[in-house]
Amino acid sequence: MAKIIFFQAHPDDLEHKCGHIMHYLATKSNNKYIIKIASMTKGEFGLPGAQYDKFKGDFLAKVRMRELFNAESIHGIPPENIEFFGYIDGSVKFNKEFIKKITVYLTRENPDIIFAPEALYTWYYHMDHVNTGRAIFYIIHNKLIDFTPILYFYTSLSPNFFFGFKKEDLALTYQLLACHKTQNWLLNYTTIPYKFTSRFAGRKIRGWKYAEPFRRVYFNKINLKKNKPSLIVRIFTHFFSKLPWFKAKYPQDILLELKNKKGRK
Ligand SMILES: [Zn+2]
Repeated sequence: MAKIIFFQAHPDDLEHKCGHIMHYLATKSNNKYIIKIASMTKGEFGLPGAQYDKFKGDFLAKVRMRELFNAESIHGIPPENIEFFGYIDGSVKFNKEFIKKITVYLTRENPDIIFAPEALYTWYYHMDHVNTGRAIFYIIHNKLIDFTPILYFYTSLSPNFFFGFKKEDLALTYQLLACHKTQNWLLNYTTIPYKFTSRFAGRKIRGWKYAEPFRRVYFNKINLKKNKPSLIVRIFTHFFSKLPWFKAKYPQDILLELKNKKGRK
């Protein structure tokens, strides 16, 4: 039985990036796979504006955990297969401590396949996402684990693998997104671009109208040059990295309280 780990920075990340492939792997592949989810944060600051400050922190973390459990139950993935890494929303850093924690986790779990947010060529420059992908890439590339899992990045500008789905399957995405009720303020705006980009990705493979795009990352020398994206992708990456992504002002008192709590543990 192969083990697949889906890494995410926040509790709603996987739903419209990997929802269809997860559903297939978890429900339609004759139980060939063990699916686990590794969530770096609990998304405890994921509400817009200071008027919601009183909900941010531990309270929102608990609500969003429940929302994630509900969404994953649609795939039949139980809460015990979901691990939270305890990082604070907006504070995932690429540093020694983070690398070590992920290395220990991967050594213990020994996955065959990993899905993670795109680290290098992405249109989604939220540092929680980028740093999660970067850490995984760094660990495999530098052989900090003694095996080489297959790595797929989602939110990539340079996809080379497409998982097809039908128009009627869009309902699955909407059902998954609807579980994340606290994120409606954001997710409601994503359905039209989602439909458009999935349709665009679907044109890349024969026989499917829609698709989820991924970038398979190669680590063996022969295929290494497949990792290099086109010039246009590199230009776009540069452009997207300069955008003011999620420069949210986290409520300092709650942030401090959470940091102190983590420090005491
Ligand atoms: Zn996210």
